[in-house]
Amino acid sequence: MAQLDPKIPSGPLAEKWRKHRADIKLVNPSNKRKYEVIVVGAGLAGASAAATLAELGFRVKCFVFHDSPRRAHSIAAQGGINAAKNYQNDGDSVYRLFYDTIKGGDYRSREANTHRLAEVSVNIIDQCVAQGVPFAREYGGLLANRSFGGAQVSRTFYARGQTGQQLLVGAYSALSRMVGAGGVQLYTYSEMLDLVVVDGHAKGIIVRDLRTGEITRHAADAVVLATGGYGNVFNLSTYARGSNATAIWRAYRRGACFANPCFTQIHPTCIPVSGDYQSKLTLMSESLRNDGRIWVPKRKEDRLKPPGEVPEEDRDYYLERMYPAFGNLCPRDIASRAAQRVCDEGRGVGETGLGVYLDFAEAIGRLGESAVRERYGNLFDIYHEITNENAYSVPMRIFPAAHYTMGGLWVDYNLMSNLPGLFVLGEANFSDHGANRLGASALMQGLADGYFVIPYTIGNYLAAQKPGSRQAQDGAEFRAAEEEVRGKVGRLLGAGGTEPVSRFHKRLGAIMWNHCGMTRNRAGLEKALQEIPVLREEFWKNVKVPGSEGTLNQSLEQAGRVADFLELGELFCRDALAREESCGCHFREEHQYPDGECKRDDERFAHVAAWEYQGEGRAPLRNVEPLAYEFTKMSVRNYK
Ligand SMILES: Cc1cc2nc3c(=O)[nH]c(=O)nc-3n(C[C@H](O)[C@H](O)[C@H](O)COP(=O)(O)OP(=O)(O)OC[C@H]3O[C@@H](n4cnc5c(N)ncnc54)[C@H](O)[C@@H]3O)c2cc1C
Repeated sequence: MAQLDPKIPSGPLAEKWRKHRADIKLVNPSNKRKYEVIVVGAGLAGASAAATLAELGFRVKCFVFHDSPRRAHSIAAQGGINAAKNYQNDGDSVYRLFYDTIKGGDYRSREANTHRLAEVSVNIIDQCVAQGVPFAREYGGLLANRSFGGAQVSRTFYARGQTGQQLLVGAYSALSRMVGAGGVQLYTYSEMLDLVVVDGHAKGIIVRDLRTGEITRHAADAVVLATGGYGNVFNLSTYARGSNATAIWRAYRRGACFANPCFTQIHPTCIPVSGDYQSKLTLMSESLRNDGRIWVPKRKEDRLKPPGEVPEEDRDYYLERMYPAFGNLCPRDIASRAAQRVCDEGRGVGETGLGVYLDFAEAIGRLGESAVRERYGNLFDIYHEITNENAYSVPMRIFPAAHYTMGGLWVDYNLMSNLPGLFVLGEANFSDHGANRLGASALMQGLADGYFVIPYTIGNYLAAQKPGSRQAQDGAEFRAAEEEVRGKVGRLLGAGGTEPVSRFHKRLGAIMWNHCGMTRNRAGLEKALQEIPVLREEFWKNVKVPGSEGTLNQSLEQAGRVADFLELGELFCRDALAREESCGCHFREEHQYPDGECKRDDERFAHVAAWEYQGEGRAPLRNVEPLAYEFTKMSVRNYK
C-alpha cells in the first residue's frame, strides 16, 4: 500500500508556505550544477519550471513531443489568469481567492495547497509583466481585470482572448534564454514513453524520437512531469488534439498513484457538436459570460424559431433565474448541468437540440459593438470561422464539452508524487482544484507550480541525494524499461488488424461521455466498466497501425496514446463508481438534493482517492488521503 503523506506544514494557514520555505533544505550553489533534472513538457507549467530550475543552476533536460514548446496546449487558453491583486478595490484578498477556490472545488482539495496558490498568484502577475506579457490595461495604465465564474470580484488578468498564448511566449522566452545559456538542453519531437524507477526513486525516462523512431534512455537525479491533462479520453473535447495521458499513465504503471481520475470538468460554453465527422470541439471562453446572457425559449415549441422572433417575455434566462447571486457567472459544473437540464426538457436550440444561446444584444446595447469587439473580438472571429454566423447580430449557440481534468498524479505539498524524485506540475497533477476548477485558475496553478513552488521544493529532495550518485543509463532498470517500450511499439505495429486507431478512440469517447460524462449513475458506470475492457481487447486484436517504426508515423503515436486512454478510461469509471456522492463536477444521479444540486457525503468521502497500480489484469488499490478543513467550514455550495 502506498504511503500518502501530504507533508502539510504545521502552523496557521497563512504562515505555512513561508515557514516551509524557511525549513526547506537548500542545495549549495556549487552543487546545483552537479544535479540533472528532467522536465517533461514545456507548456506553462513545464517551461516555467525548466527555465527557473536552470536559472537556479541545475542542469535541465526538457522533453516535448511537439516541434516547439510554443505548440503546447497552454497556447489555447483564452480567457485569463486569476490573481488576488485587488486592483479593482472590490474586496478581493488572498483569503477570498483561497476561499472561492476551496468552495468552488466543493471541499475536495487541500486547504494548505490552495492557500499557497492564492498567495503566489500575486507574484505570477509581477513576473509575467516583467517578462513583457501584454496584459490588458485600463486607461490610467493599471492592469485591467474581468470576472470569471464562481467569484464575485474581478480578479482575472487577460490579454484579449489570447492569455495563454501571451503567457506562453513569456515562459518560452525565459526557457529560450536558458537554452541559449546552456542551462537547458531542449529535446523536441521527443515523446516520453516510460519512467525509470531505481530503488523506488524516479531516476530517468525512456524517450522515442518521433521523426526517426530512435528510442533512448535518459538518467537524472529527479524527474518532473508537466505533461498536461487527460480530457481527450472523451475523444471530443476542447483540448488540443495531441494532448494525451501517456506520460502520467506510464508513471502510474510504475507506481505513482493516480488521484481522483473521475474529476473532470465539462465546460458550459463550447461550440456544439455538429456532426459525426468532427475530431475536436472549440471553446468559447468563459470570459464571454461577463457580458453574454444565456437563455433558451420558455416553450419547447419555440426552440427552432429564429432567436430574434422569440420575444423577451418568452425567454428563460435560466442561470439568472436559478442562481440570482452569481447569474451567468456561476461555476462551470453548475452552468453545464443546467444547460443539459433545459435541453433534456426539450428546449435546447439548434438542429440537434443540444445547444443554448449566449446572447450579446444587451451588452452591445449598453456598451456599443466596438467595446464588445475590443474585449472579445478574436472569440467572435473564431465563432464566425466555425459556424459562419455573426455573433454580433445573432446569439452564439453553445453547449457543454469536456475541458479540463482536476484529477492527475497524486502529489504532496512539495508537488512530489508518492514515488520519491517524481514531481508533477500543472494540469498533470491533481493538486489544487478539488472537484471543480474555477475559470482562470489553471494558468495560475501551472505558473505557480513552475515559477514559485518547484524551485524551492525540489531542493528538499535533491539535498538528500548525493551529487553525482545517479545510476548510469545502461543500468538494468533502464534496459528493462527500454525493452518494454520496444515491445509495446512492436505489438502496436504488428497487431495486423483492420480498424484505424481513430475509430477506437471515438468508441471509447462515446462510452465515457454517455456513462461517465456530465452526470453518472451506478448502472451506467457498471456498463462502461464492462464495455471498456471488451473494447480494449478488440483494440489489441484488430487495430490497424500502418507504416513503420523508423520514420514519422502519426498513426503509431496515436495508437500508443489511445491504448493508454483505453486503460485510463476504466480507472476513471472505477473511481466514479466508488465515489458514492456528488461533488463539483462529479454528479452521481443517486446523490442529489430535490432541487438537483450536488449532495456531498463528507462523512464518507471527504478524501482524495489515490489509485495504485497492482499489475496487469489485477484490480488497482484505492488508497485514501483524508482531507481536513481546519480553517474553513465545509458547507453546501450555494450560488443562489
Ligand atoms: C481551449 C482552452 C482554453 C483554456 N483557457 C483557459 C484560461 O483562460 N484560463 C485558465 O486558467 N485555463 C484555461 N484553460 C486550461 C489551461 O489552458 C490548461 O490547464 C493549462 O494550459 C495546462 O498547462 P500545462 O503546462 O499543465 O500543460 P500543457 O500546456 O498541455 O503542456 C503539456 C506539455 O507536455 C508535453 N508532453 C505531454 N506528454 C508528453 C510526453 N509523453 N512526452 C513528451 N512531452 C509530453 C507537451 O509537448 C507539452 O509541452 C483552457 C483550456 C482549453 C482547452
